[in-house]
Amino acid sequence: MARYLLTAGPTREAIDPVRFLSNRSSGQMGYALATALVVRGHEVCLVSGPVSLPTPEGVTRIEVESALEMLAACEAEWPSCHGVFGVAAVADYRPRMASEAKLKRQAGEDLILEMTPNPDILATLAQEKGDRLAVGFALETHHGEQEALRKMSAKNLDYLVLNGVEAQGAEASAVELFSQQGSRHPLGPMPKSQLATALVDFILGPKKTSSHA
Ligand code: C5P
Repeated sequence: MARYLLTAGPTREAIDPVRFLSNRSSGQMGYALATALVVRGHEVCLVSGPVSLPTPEGVTRIEVESALEMLAACEAEWPSCHGVFGVAAVADYRPRMASEAKLKRQAGEDLILEMTPNPDILATLAQEKGDRLAVGFALETHHGEQEALRKMSAKNLDYLVLNGVEAQGAEASAVELFSQQGSRHPLGPMPKSQLATALVDFILGPKKTSSHA
């Protein structure tokens, strides 16, 4: 039995106390993977952005909002984990300064938000992974294969799961799994719960023989 860290859901980047920037991630794929890992007998620490999904049975869930909070929670858990699955849709940027007071509307005037890049959580963790497992997910509209291979290498990942754009929010999903060894495997279309099980089986290998399983 191993302990896996898993990020899921969107992040929320505060503009002021009542407003934020975010994205449409539902968290479904991350939560399905958490379930598949637990079913296989592993421990899962799920660091999750705000989603409307129940915590899967047997999963330890840490709730966060922003990318910086997600990074801090992950860095605290990473030393005790055997691998990480980065499924969260982390905001690439956050407002440089979150206003302490609610921003007022100035009639007729543009509001300009200055944005600063968020840290890459998965890349930060994978940089210090040693022989631990690191798996990333990506959704690309263009040059999918090229981007998948580039991200896998840039972030020091063992596997990169490339989602089809049409899969976003849909019940059935199809993905392509790229490995650092150079293999690529299409999986699906199938319901996300089945896809999660197929991905875990593929990545961790036959239950009793894999070093990661
Ligand atoms: O957004 P991008 O396509 O680079 O995401 C690829 C992988 O990196 C995903 O697994 C995502 O969870 C992770 N990521 C992250 N922190 C970021 C951006 C992406 O952990 N700031």
